Amino acid sequence: MRFLRAFFPVTVTSSTVPSAPDMPLTLRARDGRVLARRHDDRSQAVRRSVQWAFLLLNLFIGWRFYLWVRHYETFGLSAPVTRPPGVEGWLPIAALMNLKFFVTTGTVPEMHPAGMFLLLAFLGMSLALRKSFCSWLCPIGTVSEWLWQGGHEMFGRTWRVPRWLDIPLRSLKYILMGLFVYVVAIMSADEIRAFLMSPYGVIADVKMLNFFREMGQTAAIVIAVLVVLSVFIKNAWCRYLCPYGALMGLVGMLSPTGIRRTPEACIDCNKCAQACPSLLPVDTLLRVRSAECTTCLSCVAACPVADALACTAPRRRVLAPWMVAAGVALFFMGAVGVARVTGHWHTVVPEAVLQELIPNSSGYGHPGR
Ligand code: SF4
Ligand code: SF4
Ligand code: SF4
Repeated sequence: MRFLRAFFPVTVTSSTVPSAPDMPLTLRARDGRVLARRHDDRSQAVRRSVQWAFLLLNLFIGWRFYLWVRHYETFGLSAPVTRPPGVEGWLPIAALMNLKFFVTTGTVPEMHPAGMFLLLAFLGMSLALRKSFCSWLCPIGTVSEWLWQGGHEMFGRTWRVPRWLDIPLRSLKYILMGLFVYVVAIMSADEIRAFLMSPYGVIADVKMLNFFREMGQTAAIVIAVLVVLSVFIKNAWCRYLCPYGALMGLVGMLSPTGIRRTPEACIDCNKCAQACPSLLPVDTLLRVRSAECTTCLSCVAACPVADALACTAPRRRVLAPWMVAAGVALFFMGAVGVARVTGHWHTVVPEAVLQELIPNSSGYGHPGR
């Protein structure tokens, strides 16, 4: 029951999850000054609303895509459904290939262009608001957050991997990212086009669905291990293995925004560092520059002193939580809008080709094999 309560984070109390301020009656600095208290911080409520909305959107897309596939698998016996192009957000490698194709040829690719526009949206988001995609939009990040919060509810704590192991493990995601970027970088535009126009490339989204529908024992065990680990270790998959998050984090390092601490106002209470899901020592930094910072604002929400900690833009302008939410929404809606208006949102494949490929999808392997 306690674990389930974590799936509805509004019920989690500040005494169990270190994300809410635990304010004394009168807040004083070490020299006795009475400090201004923070007003109620709504950042986490705003962020959770955005996370829920995006998770529900993804579930809806997944359901529509499944119905679309079933129409072809049943040879038209089930009702036809329009394919949701948003499913291409789950094809990060194809998106990366398409981005390279677009950059090198100046032509928007025909196959899975929506994935490229979504990747551009998330990269733009990272440039503006660091790795915000991870803590505001990514459904896997949302579930991952629920898992460690559930673990915290159950056991009263989460566990830290020792530093000597944490650092090499964290490098794994960068190695994986480097491998994917390298493979795409050495492909020519013609090779990318040939790959994406091959039967495998055309139904890459169907293959991905089949991976989950027909999951083998090994994959199921790996996922189960990651889920269990995520209950005990904050964001285990994201912290150590996700190449997509690694890319967003590296791009985010170029962002002019970030968490900034004002030492004159800080009372060294350490609440910000305790609240940070990325385990960053926020209380000792003037500015958080780490690639691991996801602009989740948990540290700001936990800080009991007004003006001690804030998410800032250039010239130290403070970004309110709604501004971060609006920025994230702007990049997402903007990319989808541009793709739609320019006629590059939908992948157009002749019906006869889909009817041939989808029911026989298991017979089409990776062209490189
Ligand atoms: S690290 Fe990967 S899985 Fe985790 S939230 Fe970011 S993109 Fe999603
Ligand atoms: S530093 Fe603050 S905004 Fe960045 S990940 Fe940690 S808690 Fe979130
Ligand atoms: S910045 Fe961190 S250490 Fe300083 S007052 Fe705020 S929560 Fe406490």
